[in-house]
Amino acid sequence: MEKIIVDKTTSESLDDYWEYTRIVGDDDGGKLFTPAQYEQYKKRVVPQRMSNRLYVSFGVPGEAMECKLVGPETQCFCAHRFKQHKTDFEVDACGGPLALPCQVKGCRCTAYHYVALNGSQPARCRCKHTARDHSEAGGHPCNVCTSCSGFKSPWTCGCGKPSHAHQTLVETRQQRQAVGKPVGREVPYRAMGGLTGFSSLADGYLRLAPHPGPVTQPASEPRRQEEDDMAYFERRYQERVSSLYYLS
Ligand SMILES: [Zn+2]
Ligand SMILES: [Zn+2]
Ligand SMILES: [Zn+2]
Ligand SMILES: [Zn+2]
Ligand SMILES: [Zn+2]
Repeated sequence: MEKIIVDKTTSESLDDYWEYTRIVGDDDGGKLFTPAQYEQYKKRVVPQRMSNRLYVSFGVPGEAMECKLVGPETQCFCAHRFKQHKTDFEVDACGGPLALPCQVKGCRCTAYHYVALNGSQPARCRCKHTARDHSEAGGHPCNVCTSCSGFKSPWTCGCGKPSHAHQTLVETRQQRQAVGKPVGREVPYRAMGGLTGFSSLADGYLRLAPHPGPVTQPASEPRRQEEDDMAYFERRYQERVSSLYYLS
């Protein structure tokens, strides 16, 4: 087997590039910021990101357990990723319903809405049509049949409760702290959703299992992508704990 050797300089610049994409995402409009623009961007966005972060998860309102923690790559009902939705806010959200609209041009999604997966596919509606067959606009009526008034899945979550008892929860740090939920470390990355640490790897009900075995390779590609993200974030957490270099 051939060994791939990456010299330190290459791996460092690769690492810088990953760091850049995690912080900037699509905010550069597809054209890399100059170092000066990048510094300016970080000065403006990072402090607000760290103080106004919104945590996004999927669970049953009132229950402490979170069935799914939404990460940057987690798909919305509209089929776009969480990171493609508006996640940065200039002011602290104080109460009221918090909606994270999709920012992809032409998409009518007004609020990030996690759709439970059945295996690797989004669960179907009771009208038998897929999430894709339903409108991404509020209420999610079916585009294919006339009998469906809005997407409702008969799927049962790993927590034992039906899918429709669940909601996509958007919470502030204060709201989570008030009920004792983890808030993780403050991070400069965009669209972190509900990811708060390495334990975020597993879905809520797996985390609560009495003897969690080693983390096994997931079957589906989207999950894998999220796990890669998580491993990356965890590494960055550890490396950056005491060095807030991006503000200096
Ligand atoms: Zn969308
Ligand atoms: Zn969406
Ligand atoms: Zn339907
Ligand atoms: Zn239908
Ligand atoms: Zn559940």
